[in-house]
Amino acid sequence: MKKRILVTGGAGFLGSHLCEVLLDQGHEVYCLDNFFTGKRENIVHLLQNPYFECIRHDVTVPYFIEADEIYNLACPASPVHYQYNGIKTIKTSVMGAINMLGLAKRLNARVLQASTSEVYGDPEVHPQPESYWGNVNPIGPRACYDEGKRCAEALFVNYHRQNRVQIKIARIFNTYGPRMHPNDGRVVSNFVVQALKGEDITIFGDGMQTRSFCFVDDLVRALVLLMNAPADVTGPINLGNPNEFTMIQLAEMVLRLTQSKSKIVFMPLPQDDPMQRQPNISLAKSSLGWEPQIQLEEGLQKTINYFKKVI
Ligand code: NAD
Ligand code: UDP
Repeated sequence: MKKRILVTGGAGFLGSHLCEVLLDQGHEVYCLDNFFTGKRENIVHLLQNPYFECIRHDVTVPYFIEADEIYNLACPASPVHYQYNGIKTIKTSVMGAINMLGLAKRLNARVLQASTSEVYGDPEVHPQPESYWGNVNPIGPRACYDEGKRCAEALFVNYHRQNRVQIKIARIFNTYGPRMHPNDGRVVSNFVVQALKGEDITIFGDGMQTRSFCFVDDLVRALVLLMNAPADVTGPINLGNPNEFTMIQLAEMVLRLTQSKSKIVFMPLPQDDPMQRQPNISLAKSSLGWEPQIQLEEGLQKTINYFKKVI
């Protein structure tokens, strides 16, 4: 059945891939974005499609459109960008959630929230299951993002309990791939761009902190599966690739795959930078029948090929 689907943050990294997949499935897609970190280039190839519409709008302001489903992705995701204007980041997460939940309630539409592994903060439980409540500093530099996303989760479950809104909460772990912004500041894009330009690879801290990286195609597939799962599968549900790497291992893999002569340099570790992160994806496996298929080396190669073209 052809559905009308609203994707907030649709011109961003994940959102643009999601719009593409939904159009390929035969749906009508409305991409809503204020272009803070999103780019027209990410969606320009979709503009000719008569079933695609791009709307310049800010999710902190209410918006009305007829839709069957809403994917709420609008929010800067890189620490550099979400800390640029912390107040705006909180408003985007909280008021954006209120506006999209209000719209979903009015339309009786399903609404999916792009939450994050950051709700676990610097986790003391490893790997992280959904039942873990997290270890977040509520007043630190990452709080605008972490607490904004935690408040959005609370709003989602309350609209579900009180108003029976059909909700889906995806806790997304570090995801990478083509269309990340070259100056985005996240580790994969930083290392790949630095390696391709022959610049120093900047490792923050001693490089022994870990992350688990999911390729964008795997993640987008999971978001669509979650949206289409039975109504009682509301989440929160972890979505990510459980293969865990230190930042040194990541830097070495990028250097090998790009055959770059860049040198590794060590820089101060930002405050509250989580030391470890790895999703427990048992719930995604059992309730969505999903697990990632693209491992880091293969996904990095695709990402490197993309950045070779754009920088
Ligand atoms: P991104 O920065 O590329 O995309 C975010 C998009 O939202 C951009 O197009 C931006 O312009 C738009 N946006 C920001 N504020 C807005 C506002 N007030 N109104 C309308 N549009 C606004 O980031 P991404 O990696 O594509 O992340 C998408 C979503 O997924 C975010 O909500 C993020 O928190 C979540 N997420 C991403 C990751 C990841 O590793 N990529 C991990 C966890 C969660
Ligand atoms: N990082 C790094 N060098 C960089 C950018 C990031 O060593 O140029 C580190 C960062 O300190 C963190 C990890 O890589 O430990 C992941 O950072 P990112 O900003 O990608 O995501 P997040 O910290 O939100 O998981």
